[in-house]
Amino acid sequence: METKYVYSFSEGSKEMKSLLGGKGANLAEMTKIGLPVPQGFTITTDACNDYYDNEKTIRAEIVAEIEKHLAELEELQGKKLGCTKNPLLVSVRSGAVFSMPGMMDTILNLGLNDNSVLGLADATQNERFAYDSYRRFIQMFSDVAMEVPKYKFENVLDRVKEEKGYKFDTDLTTEDLKGIVEEFKAIYKKEVKTDFPQDPKEQLMLAIEAVFRSWNNPRAIVYRKLNDISHKLGTAVNIQSMVFGNMGETSGTGVAFTRNPATGENKLFGEYLINAQGEDVVAGIRTPQDISTLQNVMPEIYDQFVKVTQILENHYKDMQDIEFTIENEKLFILQTRNGKRTAKAAINVAVDLVEAGIIDKKEAIMRVEPNQLDQLLHPTFEDKALKEATVLAKGLPASPGAACGKVYFNADDVVAAVEGGEKVLLVRQETSPEDIEGMVKAEGILTARGGMTSHAAVVARGMGKCCVAGCGEIKVDEAAKEIRAGELTIKEGDFLSIDGSTGKVYLGEVKQSPVEVTGNFEKLMNWVDETKQMMVRTNADNPRDAKAAVEFGAEGIGLCRTEHMFFEEDRIPAVREMILSKDVEQREKALAKILPMQRQDFLEIFEVMEGKPVNIRLLDPPLHEFLPQDDETIAELAESMGIDAAEIRKRIVDLEEFNPMLGHRGCRLAVTYPEICVMQARAIIEGAIEAINKGVEVHPEIMVPLVGEVNELKLIRGMIEETAEKVMEEKGVKVDYTVGTMIEIPRACLTADEIAEVADFFSFGTNDLTQMGFGYSRDDAGKFLGEYVDKEILEKDPFQVLDQKGIGKLVQMGAKLGRSVKPELKLGICGEHGGEPSSVEFCYNTGLNYVSCSPYRVPIARLAAAQASIKNPRY
Ligand code: PEP
Ligand code: MG
Repeated sequence: METKYVYSFSEGSKEMKSLLGGKGANLAEMTKIGLPVPQGFTITTDACNDYYDNEKTIRAEIVAEIEKHLAELEELQGKKLGCTKNPLLVSVRSGAVFSMPGMMDTILNLGLNDNSVLGLADATQNERFAYDSYRRFIQMFSDVAMEVPKYKFENVLDRVKEEKGYKFDTDLTTEDLKGIVEEFKAIYKKEVKTDFPQDPKEQLMLAIEAVFRSWNNPRAIVYRKLNDISHKLGTAVNIQSMVFGNMGETSGTGVAFTRNPATGENKLFGEYLINAQGEDVVAGIRTPQDISTLQNVMPEIYDQFVKVTQILENHYKDMQDIEFTIENEKLFILQTRNGKRTAKAAINVAVDLVEAGIIDKKEAIMRVEPNQLDQLLHPTFEDKALKEATVLAKGLPASPGAACGKVYFNADDVVAAVEGGEKVLLVRQETSPEDIEGMVKAEGILTARGGMTSHAAVVARGMGKCCVAGCGEIKVDEAAKEIRAGELTIKEGDFLSIDGSTGKVYLGEVKQSPVEVTGNFEKLMNWVDETKQMMVRTNADNPRDAKAAVEFGAEGIGLCRTEHMFFEEDRIPAVREMILSKDVEQREKALAKILPMQRQDFLEIFEVMEGKPVNIRLLDPPLHEFLPQDDETIAELAESMGIDAAEIRKRIVDLEEFNPMLGHRGCRLAVTYPEICVMQARAIIEGAIEAINKGVEVHPEIMVPLVGEVNELKLIRGMIEETAEKVMEEKGVKVDYTVGTMIEIPRACLTADEIAEVADFFSFGTNDLTQMGFGYSRDDAGKFLGEYVDKEILEKDPFQVLDQKGIGKLVQMGAKLGRSVKPELKLGICGEHGGEPSSVEFCYNTGLNYVSCSPYRVPIARLAAAQASIKNPRY
């Protein structure tokens, strides 16, 4: 059968999202269930891809299909495009598979020309309305389809308003608008070098092409990258007969969510404007009314709308984001989609829907995006600091969270300041899609104009970024780069703090406080734990982090990097002494000073972990990292050690390496300085015995880093066992400990069967494995990896998201070879990837027993592990 490229709304359904785009599929579904939807048709994503495959032309066959559907629509509506009597007007809107709010273009009122405008005036008995629609159309069409800058038209409007002494666009008279239409057409002719197209079919084809092109505009590309949406999907185009919210006081337009998208509260949430068209609400030009007040203005319409919202939520079994228009007291639904929401709302809605019996627990778990939890795992403002802070102004609480930073007034300046290492707030009069990069980089967003569904609010909530919108009490002067609030002036680079949950803006930097997992969040996480089949541990080097991680649900420590303990201020002198020792005797003396400190560290960690496994890694980094660089510290050290500063300098030079990451580090240190390994093994076992003596259960796992050859592990395991036996005999207490290794060198993956013979466990160190697998220095790759991703050489930064194809294959090989000789070999991962959702799923599918990640990512990893189990149960 030939490919069908165009579907009328009555032909589709919500299941056809990949072909019709989200908007098209839902318009079809709403038509199917009998809701009042202005009719139209959808040009498929296949047609968009076909356009790109054919050197950006719409093939004749597709044009013919569009014309056929247009004729059917004209028949259905009893109106004709471009007709001088009651003409059909249509909107042309993009509709990608995954919603990309404000990222692509829309053209309204298409079909107007010098003749049909008269027909519209006649049919509506409203000449002013007809010319207002025409001037809007010329402006949108010129901007979207022909790239004529918007401001050229805005300037004309502003000039006419000023000449006539008007305040609002609504003050413009019919005669004014007629003049403006002529001026707009003249601008078009000057810029495009042809007359404004009068043939509606030509208008239509140019508009469709513009929407296809908008799929690849820079802001759409940035948005897709940010949200992991494939560039290959293409967009559908929806052609829908126009209904008008700007026909006077009995018309209006609005947007509503079936629940509160910031908190999840089960109460209709939205805004509308009387006598306004489509984009006016989201554009934030006039401040809209709260949806609840519609009940007083148009009670019947309000009741009808509330019913529709309930039907839609029950039908889709999820919170809906609905666009509607009222034309002369008649309600039309223009769009519905699953509403974008904050993590807090996502959790509350999912839990409420389970409790209402609408979805099950598994579905609830799948509804929350693991990375989104990050929003809940970040600090809010401290109560005390907040009470003492000075409130500068109050706006709308558009996206919750707390943020502080230096203010910058445009996206470029934000990006530059962040690159310079600053914490930044983006402050705008109102944001537009061009600001996307600045919004991504900023800690938070503050706007002076726009409502709860303005661009800034919608996009910030999607990103989980703190945002205060519509803060009318401040004057934002983007040109002068300053904010004025009463007597005060805040200049670029000054600090402000914003609270996206209350809408308050504070002067200066307000202190933030940590987070807790309670309420519905806790409930959902309990379901997560019932569901997941892989453990989640944490990387923690001290009792404080370990405690935080346990509160976030960590089931053990997957990596305790002992070197971090060495850096503490009170021990670095002893560590330096140990490194600079001339002989074993001197080194042992220095190590004896470190031993009690390490023992105490381990004891405290065992106590916090209360019997959960604790994986402690022996010293890993090259020793020179611990040595002083400046003269003053060198002199101090020389004095305390009773040796010459020159001697220390010489030793520092001796320890320097060309490639320290490939040098004298990891288990190589234990091979050459066995006494360090012996001290650490003793500290672990002694700490464990002290814990046991205090009644604490302990399960230490001693981990050897950077093993590439089994003989390294054999030698070091021997030292650990000998030390442990000795300590246990001295103290008369037995400790149940294991010895295993990091698998982080490619050769270790290739020879994992040999290594497994001497290891009780493997922990994949995917940081080093990525470094050595790709041959990218972990410390220097930042210089080029950004460009690699931009140029699509790599899809993602492999240090953040595990490269499953290559590095993942090494992990799979290591796991398989290890288990081939020891089927019960315990396997985990402790590289940064252990907290990244797609990598967590990969680890689960590879059969790992656990992932380990930083404390704040533990809930993310737990949720990702539960989702992996739901997608692919192990038994
Ligand atoms: C690793 O290499 O993945 C790892 C966890 O060790 P580190 O980051 O300390 O080298
Ligand atoms: Mg490593």
